[in-house]
Amino acid sequence: MKKILSCFLVCAFLCTGLYGCGSKKTELIEEAKDLTLSQEISITPEQNDYGIPAYNFLKHIQSNYPGRVAGTEKETEMAVFILSVLLNGGYAESDIAIESFEIDDSTPMMDEAIQNVFDGGEKSNSSQNILITKKGESEKTIIVGAHYDSAGTHGVDDNGSGVSVALENALRMVNTPTYYTIQYVFFGSEEPGMYGSRAYVESLSEKERENIILMINIDTVLAGDYLYLYGGKVNDNGTVDNTEAVFKAYEIVKEIGLNIQLPPDGNNDYPYPTGQKRSDHAPFNDIGIPYIYFEANNWENGSPVETEKNGLIMHTDMDDLDFIENEYSGRVQNTLSSYSILLYSLLQENNWEQ
Ligand SMILES: [Zn+2]
Repeated sequence: MKKILSCFLVCAFLCTGLYGCGSKKTELIEEAKDLTLSQEISITPEQNDYGIPAYNFLKHIQSNYPGRVAGTEKETEMAVFILSVLLNGGYAESDIAIESFEIDDSTPMMDEAIQNVFDGGEKSNSSQNILITKKGESEKTIIVGAHYDSAGTHGVDDNGSGVSVALENALRMVNTPTYYTIQYVFFGSEEPGMYGSRAYVESLSEKERENIILMINIDTVLAGDYLYLYGGKVNDNGTVDNTEAVFKAYEIVKEIGLNIQLPPDGNNDYPYPTGQKRSDHAPFNDIGIPYIYFEANNWENGSPVETEKNGLIMHTDMDDLDFIENEYSGRVQNTLSSYSILLYSLLQENNWEQ
């Protein structure tokens, strides 16, 4: 009994907030291996089909993983799905780490009432990040992040879309040589207060921090009227610096000819071009890591209200692929392909360190 108890305590200690929690990783990976993926979502991306694999992932998320509420069974099932896609797409178990952390519901991220259509099943106070490392020539690392939990909705906009774009890219890059090391991080439990990204940043050693030269956060890129890029750190006096990365990314947008823009200037609550601390880039920004944040939204009236026609889609029962496709013909494919092209292009650059 004592032995069992002490093992339990030691194991529980090791599994709190540290990399590579062995048993949880093994458990999730075994489940991922048992999952059979349909033909449609197990194909390797072709050279020029940007956004198509992402769309297929999103359709699968819509049908199978609604209500991925932080800490619930559905959130864990989604983690298993992500692992299954990555293993099937050519990543080895040794490329993957699972980072476990604890959550509570005391700090809801947004004021807007969340319409809970799905509850996600049984709830615990535990969640996890999924980390996949694709080595480059350099140890210097670009993080590509997307949270996979959701409100009690289908969560295709927030944030099945970001997960799908990141997954497509991970499969595209698996055998593509890059100068920088890329680490994809699928964050758990963003909605109740960015638990996953905060746990990730807190766990970094000094050397790991120094090696991260850029964080690209993809959150809610499906339904908004316009496609945006944000970046930069707001100082105590209201000025913004650390904007080099986002302006460089915007130059790349213009070179390619994508219809993606910087947010409008003029709102003191959201100093240009930051879009502010509304997602998983925030903990990285707080420790001075440059970020680029992809989001589809509508800032024409000075604050983030996703669509002119329906207001906010995220966190409402309108965050549903069928609804979004019916309301906004062609938007979903266009958005996924634009951000997929941009992400791929940004990861081809070998001069992010300035
Ligand atoms: Zn989100």
